[in-house]
Amino acid sequence: MNVAVVTVGDELLAGRTTNTNATWLCERLDDRGVSVERVTTVPDRIADIARVVNEYRAEYDAVVVTGGLGPTHDDVTMAGVAAAVGRSLEEHGDALAWLEEDGYSRADLTDGTTHLPSGARALHNETGVAPGAVLEGIYVLPGVPSEMKAMFESIESEFAGTRTYREEVIADEPESALLDRIADVRERFDVDVGSYPGGTVRLSLQSTDEATVAEAAAWLRERVDEPDE
Ligand code: ATP
Ligand code: MG
Repeated sequence: MNVAVVTVGDELLAGRTTNTNATWLCERLDDRGVSVERVTTVPDRIADIARVVNEYRAEYDAVVVTGGLGPTHDDVTMAGVAAAVGRSLEEHGDALAWLEEDGYSRADLTDGTTHLPSGARALHNETGVAPGAVLEGIYVLPGVPSEMKAMFESIESEFAGTRTYREEVIADEPESALLDRIADVRERFDVDVGSYPGGTVRLSLQSTDEATVAEAAAWLRERVDEPDE
């Protein structure tokens, strides 16, 4: 399964908010064996959200969108997603019923709070107000990290992929000096290799076969200078 992540918010693009939601989602999806192919941040603008979501839903098995769900003027994500799939926004009965159970009355709620793209499945917001939605492989989640995480966990089982195994080898050598051994390990073993320098070099080995990764890591560890403990 492959997925695109879309984070919405002017404040992310201005660098005022660190995009921890993207990192958290990528890690969770990767843990499930799902391949995240895109992470894109778009402004709080209906046309931009619609364009990116429309492109990604055609390209990937699922699109996870977070941010911009609340009732304020800059919360336009539901409208953008509705536009992407050519649907209108309509009051969702389940979303209204959940909020009423949580003690809100219709009169307390800002207009539009329970409006979702027509035909969408509503997702309950256990820790906040704004409901999420699922339609046509598009999962729309809130921006507040605690709300986003709780809601993702309620639908996490819908994301599945091939389990991959990973091992790391740390080398205390310049990256350029390691090129021969990186080439050798790739040739000998059916593994994906990542090289991440910064002080020491972190070599990441990955495969869908656990034994292959273990053998490749053992082979490489014997051939690089590991840092002193
Ligand atoms: P609300 O219903 O409270 O308005 P929302 O779903 O509309 O929530 P936003 O308005 O986009 O979400 O963001 C709410 C808060 O969540 C922001 O103040 C920001 O701090 C945080 N936030 C939003 N997006 C992200 C993100 N990608 N990573 C980390 N924090 C985020
Ligand atoms: Mg908001």
